[in-house]
This record gives sequence, C-alpha cells and structure tokens, in this order.
Amino acid sequence: MTSFTHASPPVALSELAPWLLDQLDEAIAFFSADLRLVCFNQSLVKRWELDSEWLQTQPTWSDFLQTVSQQQQWLPEQRETMEQLLELAWRSPHQPLTPNADINLNASRYSKSPPLRLKLTGYPDRSFLLTLLPTPPANSPEQQLQEERLRLLESVVVHANDSILITEAEPLESPGPRILYVNPAFTRITGYLPEEVLGKTPRLLQGPNTDPATVARLRTSLHNWEATVVELLNYRKDRSEFWVELSVVPVMNQEGRYTHWIAVQRDINQRKRVETELQNTLQQQIEVSQMRSRFVSMTSHEFRTPLTSILSASELLEHYGHAWTEEERLEQLHLIQSTVQHMTQLLDDILLIGRSEGGRLEVYPVWFDVVTFCHTLTSSIQNSVGREHLITFDSQITRPYAFLDQKLLQRILSNLLSNAAKYSPQGTLIRFDLEQDVDNLTFIIQDEGIGIPIEDQAHLFDFFYRGNNVGTTPGTGLGLAIVKNCVDLCKGQIRVESTPNVGTLFRVTLPASTEATRPE
Ligand code: ATP
Ligand code: MG
Repeated sequence: MTSFTHASPPVALSELAPWLLDQLDEAIAFFSADLRLVCFNQSLVKRWELDSEWLQTQPTWSDFLQTVSQQQQWLPEQRETMEQLLELAWRSPHQPLTPNADINLNASRYSKSPPLRLKLTGYPDRSFLLTLLPTPPANSPEQQLQEERLRLLESVVVHANDSILITEAEPLESPGPRILYVNPAFTRITGYLPEEVLGKTPRLLQGPNTDPATVARLRTSLHNWEATVVELLNYRKDRSEFWVELSVVPVMNQEGRYTHWIAVQRDINQRKRVETELQNTLQQQIEVSQMRSRFVSMTSHEFRTPLTSILSASELLEHYGHAWTEEERLEQLHLIQSTVQHMTQLLDDILLIGRSEGGRLEVYPVWFDVVTFCHTLTSSIQNSVGREHLITFDSQITRPYAFLDQKLLQRILSNLLSNAAKYSPQGTLIRFDLEQDVDNLTFIIQDEGIGIPIEDQAHLFDFFYRGNNVGTTPGTGLGLAIVKNCVDLCKGQIRVESTPNVGTLFRVTLPASTEATRPE
C-alpha cells in the first residue's frame, strides 16, 4: 500500500510523485482491477472528510461509496449515478468520462451547494481512476439568485401536470423543428420516453384523425411568430388518441432573435368526452323530433286514408244499399271490416313499439317445435299472398324443439316474409330456410325483389323509415323497427344483404336451447 502523505518533499524523483499528488487541488482515488482503493491523495481526505487510516486499509469500491454516501448524505439515486458512471467508464477505457462533468451529487437535488465536477477514467484491466475537480469559486449573490430562480423554474417544469415540450425555432416546414426537451408529464401522457423523441419533431404526435385544418392554422401562427392556442387530437406511442389544448409560444434571445418554441399541452380528454356526450344527446333529441314529425305525417296519412274509405263505404251502403244485391252489400261490409282490421293492426304496432321503447315488453320463452311453427307460418303467408309468389320453407335441423318466445318469433318472421312478398314482382320465388348450430337458430328469408338502395340500408330499422325505391307500395315503415326490437329482446342479431333489382336476404340469428324431442 502506498500512501502519499509526506511531511516534506523527498529528494528522489520516484519519491517526489506522492508528494506532488498531495499538492494537487484535484482529489484522486485509484482503484485496482479487484476494485480496491490502492492510491489516494490528501485532497480526497479533505474534500470528503474521510479517515486517512481507514483509506489505507484498501477499502473496496462498494465500501468506499457507502462511506462517502453516508458522509456526504447522498440520496440512493446519487450513489447509483456513480455506479452507472463507472460502468460507462469501463465501456470506453482510456476516455476520461464526461470530462469536467457537473454531476449533481449533493444531498438535496435542489441544494444550493455547487455540483461535483468529476472524471472517471476506466482502464482495460478494469482498474479505474476517480478525479474530483476543484470546486469553482462561489457565485456572486446576483448569480446565486439567478441560479435559484432557474432551479425553481426547472422544478415547476418538471412537476407540471401539463406536458411541456421545447423545440428549436426552425425549420417550420418539413421535417419540422427538433425537440430539445420534454418534461415527465409528457412521458406520462404520451408514453414516449425522452430519448425516444429528442431530436425528432412534434409531428410524431399527429395521426390520421388529427384535423389538417387545425394543423394548418397552427403552422400559419408559427410562421408569424405568434403565440397560439389550438385544440388538437394527438396520438400516444401506442397510437391511441387523446385531445390536448396546445399553447405554443416563441422564445426570443437577448439579440431579439427567435430561438425556441415552448409548447404546453393540456389533457382535455374529459372535457371532450362531455362535449361528445352533449352532442349525442342533442343528436338524439333531433332524431326524436324528426321521428315525431314522421309519426304525425304517417299517422295522419295512414289513418285518414282507411277512415275515408270506411266513411265512403258506409255512405254508399246508407244511400244505395237498399238497391244492391246481398253480395254487393257484403262486399262493402267486408271492405269496412278489413280496413278496420288494418287500422287495428297499425295501432297494435304503434302500441307495441311504445311498450318496447318504454322497456315494458317482456320475453316469455316456451318449448315448441320450431319447424312445424315455420311450416304453419309459411302456409298462412302463402294463403294471404295467393298465387303472386311461391314461398318455400326448408329446414335440415335435427333438434326441432326450441326454447323461444313464440309471439316475438311470429312478429319477426311474418314481417320479414310479408316484406319479401310486398317488395318482389309477381311470380318470383321467396325462400325461407332454417339452420342450426350449437347455440343458435338462424332464419334466412331471401327474395328476388326490388332490393334496398345502399344509402337506405343504414336506416332500415328506424321507425317510419322507408326505402327510396318503394314507389306506390303501401307501408308505414314500422315493420322492420318492430323486427329489430323483437330480435334485440331475444338477444339475437339481424343482418341484411341486398342488391337493388336483384333481391334481398335477411338473416336472423337467435340464441336458443334446442332438443330433438319435447323436453319434459
Ligand atoms: P310496414 O310498417 O307496413 O311494414 P314497410 O314495409 O314500408 O311498412 P318496413 O317493413 O319497416 O316498412 O320496411 C322498411 C323499408 O325497408 C321498406 O319501406 C322498404 O323500403 C325496405 N324493405 C324492407 N324489406 C324489403 C325487401 N324484402 N325488399 C326490398 N325492400 C325492403
Ligand atoms: Mg313491412
């Protein structure tokens, strides 16, 4: 062990070296490859108030750091910094690491005492030299005040909730100004670590749904060196979207030249969410009022026409009935009866929708033979459409007993089958198929009719909505709204595929337990 603590300068040159080391202002500690302190000078003892005798026992690097940390009241992360510096020093041996680096190893991060300036030089055999440079002379009170102010400002930026980003002033055109600094809130909000964005441009935060008009407005303000505030949709590292209120201000140096931009981004997702909810509510109200007006015009038309025909049939009966044959009288009476039935059906539909909208419609599933049910329904619709169409029903299912609400199923299928007949030219075929998988029954109704224009398909299930191509075919636009309600009540799904002038296919899938024989 060599100690360089000598009282007076020795004569021989080799003996002079230790004395010279002790004269240095720099504190020096040399660690051997097995990480033991093998050489140090007096400046080290003084700077860190260490025990010279203890240092002579060749403490290990880790003991050394431990003792210095305690002595200097370092925080754990400050000690860690030293370890990391050593790793770096070994990675590029012979290169004094961060020469004159100001490393803040003071007890408190914002402590007033000046930071340590140190060098770590690693050697290939993993020995290394630690040099502590002398502390620069204390700043003037004015400089100290300014430093204090800077430290405070830094702490505001570091602890701010808003994301803060500093870029160079130019170029404003592609690729855009480079990012020089981001605060921790930026990482929290965007998911990007500083090293992933430094040197890149803030454009990396934009994405496909960022409004180009807002970006253009922002760019114009930047070109005019104007401070500006915009609301912008940005993208996180995982490409999820978030709304920010972005304030950008240019920073000027003492010569009056713009040098940087400071961009503060406030998270306004919550506000945007409330705005969207309000807009949705407004949209719903508009839809309700549109529906109301469609309802009024539909009811006035749909009720007035049959009422007029009932009135005229009864007037004819009143004035000319006595002169008619029994058959002619019956014909008028049947016309009145069927018109009343039609109106009753319409009222039933309206009431049904009212009940379903009010959540007062309930589901009563029972076990029944769904194949027989479909056969009967097909025959009854075939009877009502007569010879105009041929309706075929086909089923390959092996478990015909299903647990479903019969009334709801009846409403769904009869509306779809009667639509298929109503919107198809005479002599065309209507196919009705039933399929089954483990948990579902699928009812497919396919026609060769007028089809549904693509622009109408999105509104098919709206109340009182009718396609543009229905011409004079009568209807109220309630059938499919009822179908949709019933399908929803059964927790099923309905899909439509349609090509104008080719035909339409409705596919209704309902979850249902099924059995081969009637369950007890
Ligand atoms: P109703 O209330 O008397 O049933 P509607 O048939 O007009 O009147 P929906 O059954 O709700 O009303 O159908 C809505 C619209 O969807 C129809 O007006 C029609 O434009 C279109 N549509 C429904 N089914 C078919 C189909 N099979 N082929 C062509 N268009 C159809
Ligand atoms: Mg219909």
